[in-house]
Amino acid sequence: MRDMTQSVQQRDAQKEEGQATQAVGAGRSAVATASEPTATRASQIVRVSAVGIVANVLLAVFKAIVGLAANSIAIVLDAVNNLSDAGSSVITIVGTKLADRAPDRKHPFGYGRVEYLTTIIIAVIVLWAGITSLRESVTRIVHPEDSTYTVVSLVIVAVAVLVKVALGRYVKARGERLSSDSLVASGTDATMDAVLSAATLVAALVTVFAHVSLEAWVGAIISAFIVKAGFDILREAIGKILGERVDAELSQQIKHDVCEVPGVRGAYDLVLNDYGPERLWGSVHVEVPETMTASEIDTITRKIQLMIAKKYNVILHTVGIYSSNVGDTRAAQIRDHVCSLALAHDGVIQVHGFYVNEHAKFMNLDVVISYDKKDRADIYGQVVAELRAAYPGYAIHVNLDADMSD
Ligand SMILES: [Zn+2]
Repeated sequence: MRDMTQSVQQRDAQKEEGQATQAVGAGRSAVATASEPTATRASQIVRVSAVGIVANVLLAVFKAIVGLAANSIAIVLDAVNNLSDAGSSVITIVGTKLADRAPDRKHPFGYGRVEYLTTIIIAVIVLWAGITSLRESVTRIVHPEDSTYTVVSLVIVAVAVLVKVALGRYVKARGERLSSDSLVASGTDATMDAVLSAATLVAALVTVFAHVSLEAWVGAIISAFIVKAGFDILREAIGKILGERVDAELSQQIKHDVCEVPGVRGAYDLVLNDYGPERLWGSVHVEVPETMTASEIDTITRKIQLMIAKKYNVILHTVGIYSSNVGDTRAAQIRDHVCSLALAHDGVIQVHGFYVNEHAKFMNLDVVISYDKKDRADIYGQVVAELRAAYPGYAIHVNLDADMSD
């Protein structure tokens, strides 16, 4: 995953007090305000992509002329590659524009995930370019043809390498600042293309000076790299759509800040759903003293939602409440005992939300069991059985939690 801290800081800088105040509350206004800073983000992505399109079309035209004149398969394929890059940039622009539309009745979470879909289209284009190139190169290896280069053609290819290096650095740096996976992907792609263009130049020089034709082989290597890049982009975009584990640093920071709110004894079960770049929605559970009133809890949850929205541009639509015992040493003893019993099981990584009522004879707790354990349900069953045996007079409710973050 990309550097969350950086994007968090950036979002922070873009946010204003008033927006955050609106952000908490009705879902609709929350998304509307979340897209406020993305208006500038979208226009910046469009600008960077436009630079990429112009540069790639120019490079493609020059290389196509040079490649056809010299009868060089490697340079012609390089031109095709530039064209596919330009196509990717066009799709990035379209995707960003579509994703930036305001949420509506039908899609109250907004259109942010469109960006992941357009990234998949880009990946398919890159794969297509790679596979086509590979087929052409293999044909040339089997049926070699002579190439003839002029000094001008070699100079043009050399300049193209430098342009691609500069373009790659620019697009990738901007993409990281704007947390746009599409831009980062095309920036990385451009840098790799520069290396491959350099290889075509070397192959051409070898042909000129050593009279050995390597370029069909260079073309095959270029194609293999393009195919691999396509698969990488595809895998990443599909991962985002399926839903990935939230960045550990972000989840720890959010939980830490939630715990700073007076009255909160612990923060757990943070779940964040990704509705597109910089659009995280989720929920968190907090432990509060059992003596708190509804109005006090109401104040605390609003405080948490507002703070997290302001600081991270993350919408916590629900803050769940666990009651925790106060001023009762017997309850604390039972809690410590129950925790040690549960944590003794391999795979149990956390116990939280513990509450015992000795008069009504019931206790509640949540156990978090690691995804690394295949038999999570079995471990859960053992824990429950052991607790019921240890506290026979109690109704014991144990919730099985998943370790969703950290
Ligand atoms: Zn829980």
